[in-house]
Amino acid sequence: MEIVAIEAIALSHSLEEGQGFGSARGTTDARFTTLVRLETTDGTVGWGEAFAPPRTVATLIDELFEDRVIGTDPFDTGTMIDDSYTDGYHFGRGAFTRCAVAGIDTACWDLMGRATGRPIHQLLGGRGIESVVPYASTGYVTEWDQDIAEPMDEAADEDFTAAKIKIGRGIEDDVERVATAREILGDDAHLMVDYNGNYRAKRAIRSIRALAEYDLTWAEEPVPAEHPDEYRAVSERVDVPLAGGEAHFSRFEFAELIDVADIVQPNLGRCGGLSEAQLIAEMATTENVATVPHVWNSGVGVAAALQFLASVPRYPHSTNHPMPPLFEFDRSENPLRHEILVEPFDPTDGSLAVPQEPGLGIEVDRDAVEQYRID
Ligand SMILES: [Mg+2]
Repeated sequence: MEIVAIEAIALSHSLEEGQGFGSARGTTDARFTTLVRLETTDGTVGWGEAFAPPRTVATLIDELFEDRVIGTDPFDTGTMIDDSYTDGYHFGRGAFTRCAVAGIDTACWDLMGRATGRPIHQLLGGRGIESVVPYASTGYVTEWDQDIAEPMDEAADEDFTAAKIKIGRGIEDDVERVATAREILGDDAHLMVDYNGNYRAKRAIRSIRALAEYDLTWAEEPVPAEHPDEYRAVSERVDVPLAGGEAHFSRFEFAELIDVADIVQPNLGRCGGLSEAQLIAEMATTENVATVPHVWNSGVGVAAALQFLASVPRYPHSTNHPMPPLFEFDRSENPLRHEILVEPFDPTDGSLAVPQEPGLGIEVDRDAVEQYRID
C-alpha cells in the first residue's frame, strides 16, 4: 500500500458583517481550516485536518511534505513524524509544521483503518467506549453583545448535560455569566469556563475563587499558554482543575503543560495528529493528568477527536470516575463542521456515538468541500 497523491485543501467561510464572535481575547470574522486528502495505489482515500490558517499550511504541506509522503506506506506514519522532527529540525517543533503533520498523520490513520476494516479507536487501543458525553462549547463573546442566557437556554433545550462558556473580561462579568449559566443548566450539569489565557495569575486566582460556589468541572487557559509558571501559581491556590492545550504544539510543549495542569487538551489538527496525541495521552496518564481533546474543527477534525477520545487510557480511573468522557461540541456557526460530511454529527440528545465504521468512520462530501475552497 503506497500513497500516490496528496492534496492540501484550504477552506474558509466568512461570517456576516457584525456576526463575529470569539473569546475574551477577541472575535473572529471567519471559520477556516485545511483538509488533507491522501490517496493510495488501490484508490483508497484517507482524510485529515490541519487546523491552521489555510493558505499558509497548505503551502507548507506542498513545499515540505509532498515529496516525503508520496511513495510511502500509510502504516509508516511514525517514520514521517520522526523525519519531520529530525530532517527539518529547525522548524520541526514549529506550530505550522505540527499542524501539517497532524493533517497527514490523521489521513494515514484513516487509511490504516480502511485497510484493516477497523475504526481508528480500536487501532489506538480500543477501550470499548461506544459513546461520549458531548458538551456545548458556547456562550461566546459576540460582536452583537449577546445575552449569556440565550445560548444557555439553547443548550438546555438541546438536552446538553454539560457546557463551557467564555469568560475572562473582568471578575464581576465572570461571576454574572457563570451564575446565569449554572441557574439555567441546573446543579447536575458539568459547567466549564474558558479564559483563553486573558488573565495574569493573580486575577485568575481571584476569578476562580469568586466562582467557587458554582462547582466548575474545569477552568480552561486561565493564563497564557506561554507561561507554565503562571499555571503552577494558579494551580497551587485554587481547588478547581485547570485545563489547557489548544495553543500547545508537539509532545515537548505538552510535557511542560502536563507538569502544571490537571487536564490537557490536544487539538487533533494542531498537536501533531493522532500519533502525537496518543503519545501525549500516555505521558499524561503517568502523571494522573486527564486528556480531553480540544475540538473547534471541521467535521473531519471532529471525527478524529471522537476516535481519539474513545481511545484515551482511562487508568487509573474507572468508568465510575466523576468526570465522564466529555467531548467538546462547538455550537457556533461553522458550515465546515456540519456541511462537509455526508452524515454530520448530531450531539443534541446528551450522547454522541463513536463511529464504528473503518477509519474515521465518515464520508466527506466533495461538492460541499469545493464550495468553501479558497486556493
Ligand atoms: Mg478554549
